[in-house]
Amino acid sequence: MIGRVCVKGCSVASLHLHRNDKRFVYIGRQNARLKYAGIEESVLANPFKITVDRNRVRSINLYRNWIREKISIGNKSIIKELQRIKTLEDTYLNVYLACWCERNEPCHADVLIDILHSWKIVQDAKAQATYFTNSIREEK
Ligand SMILES: [Zn+2]
Repeated sequence: MIGRVCVKGCSVASLHLHRNDKRFVYIGRQNARLKYAGIEESVLANPFKITVDRNRVRSINLYRNWIREKISIGNKSIIKELQRIKTLEDTYLNVYLACWCERNEPCHADVLIDILHSWKIVQDAKAQATYFTNSIREEK
């Protein structure tokens, strides 16, 4: 199972614990407090910040298109990270994508959970991109 967890309100001490626990995968942007706890920005971070002109739903829709495109063109770092998460799930059964969004708020983690739900690890990034593109096509 791949779930979500919110890092908002976490102390640096508990962030340290998260960092050392492989079941927690930070998927957000760069953050000073997280950096202090040794957690770096994720390649899966949402580049579409919520602004006055872009609400949460719009931001997540843009993210969905963006990441699907990245996978389709075989972006190695993104595919590698998704494969790593899928492998962690195989190993630990439960994996939690950590972000700043509250549990009741839609989050780009939901998009990643959807993608990972049907993710099948294939040999390399190019083959992964082809497999993924075909699975999106079938979905339509
Ligand atoms: Zn989030």
